[in-house]
Amino acid sequence: MSKGLIEVHGVHKTFGTVEALRGVDLTIRPGEVVAIVGPSGSGKSTLLRAVNHLEKVDRGFVAVDGELVGYARRGDVLRELPEKEVLRQRTRIGFVFQNFNLFPHLTVLENVTEAPVAALGRAPLEAEAEARELLDRVGLADKAGVRPRQLSGGQQQRVAIARALALRPSVLLFDEPTSALDPELVGEVLRVIKDLAGTGTTLVVVTHEIAFAREVADTVVFMDRGVVVEQGPPARVLEAPENPRTRAFLEKVL
Ligand code: ADP
Ligand code: MG
Repeated sequence: MSKGLIEVHGVHKTFGTVEALRGVDLTIRPGEVVAIVGPSGSGKSTLLRAVNHLEKVDRGFVAVDGELVGYARRGDVLRELPEKEVLRQRTRIGFVFQNFNLFPHLTVLENVTEAPVAALGRAPLEAEAEARELLDRVGLADKAGVRPRQLSGGQQQRVAIARALALRPSVLLFDEPTSALDPELVGEVLRVIKDLAGTGTTLVVVTHEIAFAREVADTVVFMDRGVVVEQGPPARVLEAPENPRTRAFLEKVL
């Protein structure tokens, strides 16, 4: 296998007549921070969801940590993994959604401990100690006992990040983590992601925050109409894009 932590090869995905992904190739190295940018409808969410097997791809494959996502290879034949195996694979990938998706009936602390205990079988007390550390890391140590609805959007998103980290994933995927936030709350969430980037965690962030991408990402991937149009260091893709579609997009958002 090659050295990518995430390998996306020739991935196609169609919804009815809509070709959401039309042959995507992407390699993400361990520790790399990748920002995915592009117009609405270009396939960014579908790509992230394919990596986490929340969408089944029509053609091509995704591998994480050298393991095919959703499939096992037997000789030349691909066999679909049973749901239990897919769930096991998913616990290695943290996913942070635009709308937080916290469990409303659980406290903040319970939101963070639920998966490590239920999915990984960690000892509850150990999971709780780790959850408190993670909440401290995202600046919410004092909110452990409250329910999500008592928090601001920015705080809820920071809980969602702590929850994703609690599985000790090998990669964290963020799908527009600040798009649902009031403007004054965006900074606190971006700061947490930036701190994570500094720790060597592999991050893939779909974002419209171009300044953030420029500052934090090692690699910027520009997607349009279901394909990766251009990728490279922020200084190149964002300051001196080669492709006219990248240029047109950046002119609109900057
Ligand atoms: P982006 O995240 O870049 O805005 P998406 O990956 O959400 O783009 O969507 C890519 C295309 O696929 C869009 O045309 C969208 O309408 C379509 N699409 C995505 N998910 C579904 C779905 N579950 N059913 C039908 N169409 C979908
Ligand atoms: Mg999207």
